[in-house]
Amino acid sequence: MAVTSVALVAHDNKKKELVEWANENRTRLAPLRLYATGTTGRLLKESLQRDDLHSLLSGPLGGDQQIGAKIAEGEIDLLVFFWDPLEPQPHDPDIKALLRIAALWNIPVACNRATAEFVLTSAYMTDDNHRSQKPDFSDYTGRKVR
Ligand code: PGA
Repeated sequence: MAVTSVALVAHDNKKKELVEWANENRTRLAPLRLYATGTTGRLLKESLQRDDLHSLLSGPLGGDQQIGAKIAEGEIDLLVFFWDPLEPQPHDPDIKALLRIAALWNIPVACNRATAEFVLTSAYMTDDNHRSQKPDFSDYTGRKVR
């Protein structure tokens, strides 16, 4: 299935780079439904002039968790998350949780610009016959617990 929705998140020191990348890829992003954490979303909306971009709460205020919930509900197909490897973040547990939930649900994740380039130019982006495998958790959900 082609990618139809993308979540975009960047830590403060990476926001400029994400906005630059998004502008370079404006045409590729045009047909996609975009979600972003609050501040990233505001900058992207202004720069891309995309009033349809869904801005959630700011990351440290719960935005990362909102994106994680959308991934779990199958609403997001790709996560572009330029996180900052040089700066501690107050919401580190939320970041870890977001990366965990993306790995759990087998969502492609681009954590830097190089990976974002590879993913966004992949033929799978628009290939309706490509099925990224949705994990089957029936063994887990059906396990015996008391
Ligand atoms: P922000 O959140 O876009 O609201 O700055 C990003 C983050 O730090 O998770």
